[in-house]
Amino acid sequence: MYILYLDDSGSVINPSEEYFVLGGLCVPENSLRWLSYKIEQLAERIAPESPSSVEFHASAIFGGREKPWDEIPGRLSRVNIIKDVLLTLQEANPDIVTFACAVHKASYLAQDPVHIAFEDVSSRFNHFLGRITPNSRGLIVLDKSVHETSLQELAISFRRSGNTWGSQLRNICEVPLFVDSKASRLIQLADHIAYAVFRRYNANDINYFNCIEHRFDSDPATNTIHGLSHLHRNHLTCTCPACLSRRTS
Ligand SMILES: [Zn+2]
Repeated sequence: MYILYLDDSGSVINPSEEYFVLGGLCVPENSLRWLSYKIEQLAERIAPESPSSVEFHASAIFGGREKPWDEIPGRLSRVNIIKDVLLTLQEANPDIVTFACAVHKASYLAQDPVHIAFEDVSSRFNHFLGRITPNSRGLIVLDKSVHETSLQELAISFRRSGNTWGSQLRNICEVPLFVDSKASRLIQLADHIAYAVFRRYNANDINYFNCIEHRFDSDPATNTIHGLSHLHRNHLTCTCPACLSRRTS
């Protein structure tokens, strides 16, 4: 069983943000404890007395206004904490891969960017499961704060009728599970991945994206990045890794 942990970054309604991102990581069940422990060790470094009180949430760490981040002086120190969370993936097995979809909101004015991103990422996850081994099964776990009801309804209808590309998500079980980010270190890591992709596309800030760029699901045989997609009306001229990979493959 493979679990895809997803979180969002960027506001759907905030006109000052150009992008909405859904992103996260896919972990085989036998690596769940190891990766959670790596992030728990970071929490122990920040609050040795009460690591469970530390919730890693990238935008809150960067902002430095909430506890315990308000006690960490200097923006650079807090930026490095966000990177440390992302860099836990450095030692991970190659079968732990990341997925993300960045939707340029102005390119899809008549559509809901949350639906577009969920359809895109779940379809990519389904293809990944079909590609790795026959009969691989996957489960999607989302942060509770992401649009629970609409995403559940979407997942049910995708499975019944297939998404707009006509491929059914047969490798993915059940409807997505929604969990409280406080209780899941891997949802917290998904938050950082979504944040890294959001900063890459919304602000041209590659600081965080560089920590995970090589982790997106890809096919070495064709040199194609499957795990990252950039949905923009000008994708044919875009030189980001996702658009370039699609054009050259
Ligand atoms: Zn692009």
